[in-house]
Amino acid sequence: MSLLPPSTLLDGLPWVPPNRKPALRRLGILTLEHLLCHFPRRYEDRRKFDHFPDVPSETPVCLYGLVNKTNYKRFGPRRIFEAILEDENAGVLSSPLTLRWYNMPWIQKMIQGGDRLVVFGKPRERSKRMVIEHPEFEVIEDDGLLSLHFDRITPVHSAGDGLPVDVLRELIHQSLEVTDLGAIPRLWPERMSQEAMLPDVWRAVHFPVDMTECEAARRQLVRDVFFGIQLILGFRRAAIKKNGGFERPGTGSIWRRVAEALPFELTDSQCAVMQEISTDMAMPSRMNRLLQGDVGSGKTLVALRAMIQAHESGWQAALMAPTQILADQHYLNFRRILDPLGIPVVLRTSSRREESLPSSDLFASNTTGPALIVGTHALLFEGAEFERLGLVVIDEQHKFGVLQRAQLIERADAPDVLVMTATPIPRTITQTLYGDLDISLLKDRPAGRGRIVTVVREVEKLPAIVDFLRGALVAGRQAYIVYPLIEESEKLDLKAATSEFEKWRALLAPATVGLLHGRIDAVAKDAMMRDFREGRLSVLVATTVIEVGVDVPNATIMIIEEAGRFGLSQMHQLRGRIGRGPEKSWCILLHNGATGPALEKLQVLENTLDGFAIAEADLRLRGPGDLLGTAQTGLPSLGLGDLLRDADIMAEARGIAWQVLGEDPKLENPIHRQMKDYVLTNAVSQHLSAG
Ligand code: ADP
Ligand code: MG
Repeated sequence: MSLLPPSTLLDGLPWVPPNRKPALRRLGILTLEHLLCHFPRRYEDRRKFDHFPDVPSETPVCLYGLVNKTNYKRFGPRRIFEAILEDENAGVLSSPLTLRWYNMPWIQKMIQGGDRLVVFGKPRERSKRMVIEHPEFEVIEDDGLLSLHFDRITPVHSAGDGLPVDVLRELIHQSLEVTDLGAIPRLWPERMSQEAMLPDVWRAVHFPVDMTECEAARRQLVRDVFFGIQLILGFRRAAIKKNGGFERPGTGSIWRRVAEALPFELTDSQCAVMQEISTDMAMPSRMNRLLQGDVGSGKTLVALRAMIQAHESGWQAALMAPTQILADQHYLNFRRILDPLGIPVVLRTSSRREESLPSSDLFASNTTGPALIVGTHALLFEGAEFERLGLVVIDEQHKFGVLQRAQLIERADAPDVLVMTATPIPRTITQTLYGDLDISLLKDRPAGRGRIVTVVREVEKLPAIVDFLRGALVAGRQAYIVYPLIEESEKLDLKAATSEFEKWRALLAPATVGLLHGRIDAVAKDAMMRDFREGRLSVLVATTVIEVGVDVPNATIMIIEEAGRFGLSQMHQLRGRIGRGPEKSWCILLHNGATGPALEKLQVLENTLDGFAIAEADLRLRGPGDLLGTAQTGLPSLGLGDLLRDADIMAEARGIAWQVLGEDPKLENPIHRQMKDYVLTNAVSQHLSAG
């Protein structure tokens, strides 16, 4: 029999049961290749099962046994189906296990007394019996295909309604037999790699002989996916650079005056990064750069330097902040610096159309070149008009995907792009999410900043903390008190917020206390932030709405309530609001008797101020989804890959992709072209393919 091409549609294949086709389609499985790329979610070693448990556990167990009897009960509205599973090999002394399903009447049709089952789930103790509720299970039938399902390392694929796991496993097995596997491109260039190519990778990943082989196969497939991602990102990076682009060297004259007037010395990092950016902008190719720096590392000034260079070169420059508060803050900050030099600054947001310099007519005669514009991100997508836009700075934006950036840089004036993020991101993620950007790092904190001391305290210590806080307020300091907010129960939180606020106001009287939360409208919120910034409010009780980047140097205390409910990176961000002035600052993390890993998590913050170390810890604790929030949507699909576990592969893939692009920048070599086309047409890379 001749082998079929991987793109063969399942619809025409006689061995695909027609009644399974809708379920396959729902999983997006239309072709043989889709079937082969539907990788196991986990594996069960069905040569050697766990012992029937006699204690509950959070780790699932995998058991094999005989259904001794089943029963069906109704308890009011609840329908309960139970199957009693016995360990045939353990003798009379072993106690049976109860499998239990609530309100899933169809299960009853699937399991009969005398059946042999493989089950997977967490054992619980219920009324002195060991029970697994809603286990995953498979009825083992001794038909011709038994060896596919039993007495081996068995893959478990995500199946779904209308498609039992064993049927799916048989289909995948069949597709391995009939597909021309050699026709599925393996992207990773073997000649550049240490690890030899596994010939049998598809079989090995679905039906491994042992877990060593399985992991080897997984890594190889991940290499292909990661290499594909890096190849496209690298290709795009090169294309963006080449595409349009203008020399914007500036004159340095305005910046020199700004720098002379600064009340402090630039940090070494700031100088180095400013130089990198300046050189980039002066080149005829376009700049596409990520500036990563911890909160308070002084990114704004780096942005200003770049904007001034654009202005000096006769181009507009725009800084986009994620919120109104931050746009206002940047605007005021820039005006303070630029008004004396007669450089026009304009604030543009969607709520207030334009607020130009009131005194601009004073300078009208001696200003040349277009203005510096400060706005919110919304502007970029509302089709706002810009004239000769030479530089776009996107501030504090770790939530932009590759796609959104592509949209931004398609403009004909080919602006240079500088993305600034205050969320330190682990390297692997940076290389994926921002793989098309050059990267600058601001490593050191400006001198003259007070130390930030972080302490983890039980909530019982509150009275002592209140005393401490009152003392600091009397000495003229300001404080943030932050408590968590869960979106699903906004109403509840509002109530909690209000009572928290009343509590603190009473505790801290006569100090002035403000309450800031998500339900407060933008105008009131602005007003409150202004009151805090200008010292009319001493304490801000707030949800996490106190944005990244809010700068009040006199605020030296932050109390985070129920700290266990926050992510590490989030708390690190919050903590960046203090320690901005010369005074020593205190961050107090309150918890309610946390122990073990929960306490260790908080102690990470006690032990380090290094945002990258914290981000790594956070990634390990919570995975990339939580860490990145919506940025996750900007991540390409990673197949079997895992950013943390496979960080080494991503780094190697990047190196090799750049090497390939170095040799063949346009990917014209037929093999490279084929790779590129494959990655771009493959659904795996849909996030990368625009632009
Ligand atoms: P971030 O990197 O979080 O955006 P900012 O740019 O807002 O930080 O800077 C925080 C504060 O530090 C600002 O008040 C800014 O004026 C000040 N600053 C920036 N650079 C220096 C420096 N080199 N020395 C002292 N203070 C600085
Ligand atoms: Mg900032």
